[in-house]
Amino acid sequence: MKCKGKIKVKAENGKTRATNCNEQLELHAIFCPKCGEPTKALSTDLSAKQNFNEIWEQFRTIKSKFYTTALLVIIPLLAIIAGIYFRENLAEIVKIDQYYFTNLLLLVFIPFLLTPFASKPNFSKNLTLKFQFYPKMFLVTLMNLLYFFILKIICTGYHLNLFVDPILHLVMVVLVLYWITIMIFVPILVIRKKTNPIKAAVMCYKASAETRWQQFFLVLQITFVNVIGVLFFGFGLLISLPLSYILIENYFAKLEQYQLFN
Ligand SMILES: [Zn+2]
Repeated sequence: MKCKGKIKVKAENGKTRATNCNEQLELHAIFCPKCGEPTKALSTDLSAKQNFNEIWEQFRTIKSKFYTTALLVIIPLLAIIAGIYFRENLAEIVKIDQYYFTNLLLLVFIPFLLTPFASKPNFSKNLTLKFQFYPKMFLVTLMNLLYFFILKIICTGYHLNLFVDPILHLVMVVLVLYWITIMIFVPILVIRKKTNPIKAAVMCYKASAETRWQQFFLVLQITFVNVIGVLFFGFGLLISLPLSYILIENYFAKLEQYQLFN
């Protein structure tokens, strides 16, 4: 594939004129190394929309294969939802602050939700909880909760008894979303590349330089399908939960193809 960008060259009469760049592009280039023109990668291979269409096309015919996985995943999810719902009473029983109680709840149950990333959820192998990866996913969860805790202190003055501008609450929401968008592949990296959560976070940050918006769309898709899943008396979660794992997994595979984690 040749670059279709324009470059300026000096003509014989000393004037500059625009000409086609025509640089031979590597198969998995996102930008032309010569003129900087974006290739079609972000609107084709690396497009979150294309990722969704590809997956949905295959997934919808075999979705019943993943019901058992979804039922297993729903258990820790329900524990979190119930815990948050009753946090006032529960926090009082264990005599800790409600915020700490919620975090403790997330720290215990989120790792279960991350373990299915260890099962390489393609369409031939079944997606399931992998308990042996609980300790690693616990560390991943801990790292994220610590980051959110620091954000909370900075943005809301929590524990410091300081007055902070309410706009910082909004800033916090944006930073949390931004963080999730970038760090979405950390669990997969920790498992597949056998690295620690901090190194995986750095890899994710570097890899997402060009694909951040597409990753944000991916996060929106996942939120959207699960909201729809909840709407049908929760039964839709049987479809939306496995679909979410596979969407993340497939997009990760694309980033791998483009060698963005190297
Ligand atoms: Zn070019």
